[in-house]
Amino acid sequence: MIITGGSIITDQGPTRADVHFEGSRITDIIAPGELAGSSEIIDAGGLLVLPGGIDAHTHFGMPLGNGISSLGWRESSEAALLGGTTTIIDFANPAVGEPLPQAVARWRDMADGNILCDYGLHTTVTDVSADRLAEIPALVQKGIATFKGFLAYKGRLMLDPREMKLLMEAVRKSGAMLLVHAEDGEMNAAAEETLLNTGRTGPNWHPLAHPDESEEKAVAEVLALAEETGCPLTIVHMSLAGSLKLLKNARVNRDDNSILVGEVCLHHLFADSGLYKAGHGAALAAICSPPLRTAGNCADLLAGLVNGDLDFLSTDHCEFSLAAKSAAAAGGFPRVPNGCGGVGERMVVSHTLAVATGKMTLARWIETCCRRPAELMGLKDRKGQLAPGFDADIVLFDPTAEYRWEPLGSSDRAGSLWTGLPVTGRVRDVWLRGRQVVAGGKLTLDQPGGEFLPRHL
Ligand SMILES: [Zn+2]
Repeated sequence: MIITGGSIITDQGPTRADVHFEGSRITDIIAPGELAGSSEIIDAGGLLVLPGGIDAHTHFGMPLGNGISSLGWRESSEAALLGGTTTIIDFANPAVGEPLPQAVARWRDMADGNILCDYGLHTTVTDVSADRLAEIPALVQKGIATFKGFLAYKGRLMLDPREMKLLMEAVRKSGAMLLVHAEDGEMNAAAEETLLNTGRTGPNWHPLAHPDESEEKAVAEVLALAEETGCPLTIVHMSLAGSLKLLKNARVNRDDNSILVGEVCLHHLFADSGLYKAGHGAALAAICSPPLRTAGNCADLLAGLVNGDLDFLSTDHCEFSLAAKSAAAAGGFPRVPNGCGGVGERMVVSHTLAVATGKMTLARWIETCCRRPAELMGLKDRKGQLAPGFDADIVLFDPTAEYRWEPLGSSDRAGSLWTGLPVTGRVRDVWLRGRQVVAGGKLTLDQPGGEFLPRHL
């Protein structure tokens, strides 16, 4: 098959080229019109031809243990494909006492046969006993290249600094990378207690249970631990200009062998804490952790993503309907499930608010949404680029379409941060490993065809 007449994105910007693929792989990127013959031709005139998006941070169908789960694997992956993302990396979360391989197997059971896009799994570690840490090397061999630890969520997921250090040492030894949720669980718990003791239980108070100082303290702490242990580190969902500054300084001072990576998520770039003051529903929809921050932070984070201080753009997609959040809110804001949707929005919303506004080049956009997350997360030979030998994950994108955003697939309209946003750019067609899965903005597949991706750093 040949996609002809479109433009691929190179470092020089949009460049006319034809993309040739056979079966599941890209075979050639060639000058326009050079190869004809018997191939099937797809006309991409006026469109951008992009590599399928890579969202390295999602929570599809995540059970919370109280009968509530985030939007499921099928539904979330439907939004992903319709939004131009062909690969996601989700988190397998072990139950208390559960061996890590068992948690991974449980997550694969939930995903396989339901997921429409390709996926990998990070594995969360909340128990640093010798038994659990000993399970890490075998998982790395099976393609779980990344683990996650929390400094947040006291009494549930939180590791103290001593435990975090043990985890980092185990992860480094096995050749993997650690992802860290950097907020200080003690500080958040104390802030939450004060709020509840003084009757401040509405959703508008949620951000006050996640003070800026809490994130900055945890970021500083985990950067120091990374230096001490030499463990490759990604700080996920960085939400503050102050955190970014700490990362930047640590990179300046690092020795050559350390790997320090910063992830930012869509809602921390383009939605701000004003939503917590915009009424009950808006505040509920905006409940996520870390919370939305002030607009000044958003602007600094976007500048950081543009100039390379931040490495890639994810979503932390973890969608709950507004109805589910509302029902839980009766018990006070701490009961409200944390999370926002975004996997379907990431490409179009970032194109609208970063590229079409002239703040980010097309080349940097594709780098942060496709190539870098693939390279950093162990998919560098297969995903995130339009190049010979890579999977034929291809998106035809109309950069001129203008309309108001509607959540994709069965995403919840009322609970979305993006409903009604005037956007520029539309995903028209998508191929996953050479198979067309979206045509004219509609799903065309009959069977869930997503595959588990072993990842190796
Ligand atoms: Zn997350």
